[in-house]
Formats: sequence, C-alpha cells, structure tokens
Amino acid sequence: MSDARDNPEAYRELMIHLREAATMASVAELLGWDQETMMPQAASGFRAEELALISRLTHQRATSPRLGELLDRCESDPALRENPETAANLREIRRDYDRASRLPEDLVAEISETNSRGMEAWKQARAENEFGRFLPWLERQIRLNRRKAECVGFPSGGDLYDALLEDFEPGTTGAAIEEIFRPLREELTPLIEAVIGSSYRPDTTVHRLKLPLERQVAFNRRMLGGVGFDLDAGRLDVSAHPFSSGIAPGDTRITTRYREDHLLDALGSTLHEAGHALYEQGLPKLQCHGQPLAEPISLGIHESQSRLWENQVGHSHAFWVWALPEARRIFGEAFDGLTEHSLYEASNIVEPNLIRVDSDEATYNLHIMLRFDLERAMVLGDLAPKDLPGAWNERIRNDLGLEVPDDSRGCLQDVHWSMGAFGYFPSYTMGNLYGAQFWDTLNAAIPDLQERIAGGRFETLLGWLRENVHNVGRRYPAAELCRRVTGDPLSHRPLMRYLNTKFRAVYRISDD
Ligand code: ZN
Repeated sequence: MSDARDNPEAYRELMIHLREAATMASVAELLGWDQETMMPQAASGFRAEELALISRLTHQRATSPRLGELLDRCESDPALRENPETAANLREIRRDYDRASRLPEDLVAEISETNSRGMEAWKQARAENEFGRFLPWLERQIRLNRRKAECVGFPSGGDLYDALLEDFEPGTTGAAIEEIFRPLREELTPLIEAVIGSSYRPDTTVHRLKLPLERQVAFNRRMLGGVGFDLDAGRLDVSAHPFSSGIAPGDTRITTRYREDHLLDALGSTLHEAGHALYEQGLPKLQCHGQPLAEPISLGIHESQSRLWENQVGHSHAFWVWALPEARRIFGEAFDGLTEHSLYEASNIVEPNLIRVDSDEATYNLHIMLRFDLERAMVLGDLAPKDLPGAWNERIRNDLGLEVPDDSRGCLQDVHWSMGAFGYFPSYTMGNLYGAQFWDTLNAAIPDLQERIAGGRFETLLGWLRENVHNVGRRYPAAELCRRVTGDPLSHRPLMRYLNTKFRAVYRISDD
C-alpha cells in the first residue's frame, strides 16, 4: 500500500483535494462579500442556509478519511519530507487536519449556530444597551470555547486559552503574549500621559471639511491604485464595516465607508484594507491555490501588513507630500489652505477614546491589552461573565482615565465575543508590533524610502514586502518569519521607538 512509487501520485491527489476545498471556501467568501455589500435584505434567511451548507461541506472535506490516507502516504516519503516546499505544505496540512478532526461534528454545528444567533443577540443588546440580554450568550460562548479547547488540546505547560489562540496566532501562547505586552504597556503609559499633558494641539481643519462623496470615492481609488493595489484583480466597494476579502486567485476585494466630514477615516480604512489586500494579492495563489504555501501565516502577520500601510505609510509626512497634490486636483479649492504638515499632524492626533475602532495608534494598544486580559480570564475561569462590565469599566478608568457611560460604549462595543472569537484580539497589537519591526528593517534596506513615498513611488516598498513576507505563505511560523526577516525575535522596542519618535515630535514633547 505505502509503496514509495505511489507517493508522487498521492501528493498530486492531495493537492487536487486541497484546491477543491479552497474553491469551496472561496464560494463562501464571495457569498459573504455579497452579504455585506450588495445583497437585498430579504435574502438574508436563504443566505444563512447557503453559507451553512458550504461550511458543512468544507468541514467534511477538511476531515475526510481520504485526506488522512493521502497525508499518511506522503509523510512516509523521504523525498517529499526533504524538499522544503513539500515539507512545509505537509507540516501545515497535518496541523490543519488534526485540528479539524479533533472537533466532533455536533460541536462544530453547535458552534456555528451559536455564533450566528449570538451575533444577533449582541446586536440587540448593544442597540438597547442591555448587557443582561447578551449575558446568556456570552456564558454559552465561553462554555463552547472551553469545550473546543479541550478537544483540540494544547502542549504541556499551556492552558485552554493557548488552544484557542492557535486559530489566530499559531505557535504562540498567552504567556508569550503577556511577556511582550507588559513592557509595551510600561512604555506606552508615560508616552500617552506626556501627549495628554502637552499644551500643543495639532491643526484639525481637515476634520471639519465637508467633501462630496463622489470625489472621496475618486480620491480613495487614486490612493488605492497609487500604492500598488491591482484594480484589474480586485474591487473597492462600500460596507458598514470596512473589510477585505481574498476571495480567489485574481479576485481580492476591499470595502471602505464614506461620510462627508470624515475624509481621513475613509482614507485610513482604505489604506488599512489595502494592506490586507496587497498581502492577499502577493500570495502565490496562481501557482498553488489551496496549498498552505499560498495562505497567510497568521492574523497578526496579516494585520502587520494593514497597519504598515495605514500607519507607517499613510500617517507619514512623506505620504502627504505625494497625496496633497492629488487631493487638490480632486477636491479643488477645499484644500487651498492645507499643507502637508497640517495634514500630517491631523493624521496623528492622540486622544483616549472609549471606542477601540476610533482610537489612535498609541491608545489603541491599551484597548487590546484590556480585551486580552479579560477574555483570557473568562476562558480560564478567573472572571465570571456576569462580572465583565465592572471589570471593563475599571480598566478603562485606570488605563485611559475615562468613565464608561453605558455598556454599549463599554464591553458591548465589539462583535468578536458574540461570534465566539476568543483569542482573536491580541492579533491586532501583534500586527502593530510585527509591522513596526518590519518597518525598521525595511528602512535600513531602502535608505531613500521616504523620498520614494513622497514621490508616490511605492514599487520598491511593495517589492520588499512581496519578497520577504507575501511570497512566503505559511512556509515558516510567524515568530520564525520575524527572526528571518528582521534578525531578531519579536520585541516591543521597534513599535515604541516609532511611537515615541513620532508623537513626541508632533506634540512638541522635550526629552527631559
Ligand atoms: Zn485589519
């Protein structure tokens, strides 16, 4: 049966199997994109049925005994184990297969149903500002996530939360995250205090401009094409919550949202989602769609790409040297009194905010650390879900100096827990950390990077990311990629250096 001569054949069949599974997943992605952008309201019931069917079929495929047989045969072949590409594929396919196979089908069905009903309950609870309405669903989600974590397991010395993290940041643990979040927090707090204590206030004229939406669309498309997004292999549309979707080879879509007096919000969302999309467009999908070699490594690495384009590029002075003439061309006299410098400063306002998604680059990370600590405590049984609002409000008071007026602007503001995503939040700050560390290395590799950005020449930057991050797929785990690319393990230092340099200058804070 396990004749070595069969193995090239087995590997080929395995790849076909994966490609079909990825094709099913891309159909689900397309249905999901449509649901958020174009779908008529009356179709929502049937859409849920369509998505449930595809997710059942995809799970069956991902756990089919045939896949297990093929994998066994390939793993016994020394030639496949020694080739770095096939070895990386097999390692990752095995990981996914074992993880999916450990979940009983009835648990998968219960999770999927609870996720969609939990989200509906959350929407109502948030609209009515009624935590009690959401509480039973939160309790149920914690129970289900604990069961899921027990099924998939974790290495010795770890805990249930580590098992959940694997879905988002494979290879990392709660303890490792804590180790890096602690010094980050210790250095962020004095920076934020210094900014708040500064008497300097940036020019906010641009935040008061009312700009016609159709011109904002033109401006965002220009920016998107300018940074290197391939508009022939993707789309920019509108949705209530901006997102990106790497639907299929040759089809990567993003959304943003426009309001007349919120140009920088729309631009920030567009550049953020563009960063995700450039990663998706840079994965070698045409050659190996469905294989781990053409898939993103982790949510944190994905987020590093979105943050890098949104923040390090989009919030830079050089960026506005390029973007201001484009804005003048498209918006006309509305931009007459604005300078690169005032736009740069208006892009870099630091102000504690109750709402995570409205927060600036510095305080944002405190929001994430709060969620990481509280969700970990709930999963590990150290915090009862009913005590969440109190714990939340106390942290906001201590960390940001703000009073939470109601749970809708407190612990009910995010969708994640309602849809069962425990272990997701840390990825946002991991993305900021990876992004800043890549940025340091990038600047050393491309000494004239700022001049290039100022000239709207983004090819070298994008080329570097393509070569060092995008093309890699899941060849290495995130931590190893970071070491290979930057020469160092992930650290809080590059991000703190970047935040300190920028915000101390913007807010005129002296070093003593
Ligand atoms: Zn993102």
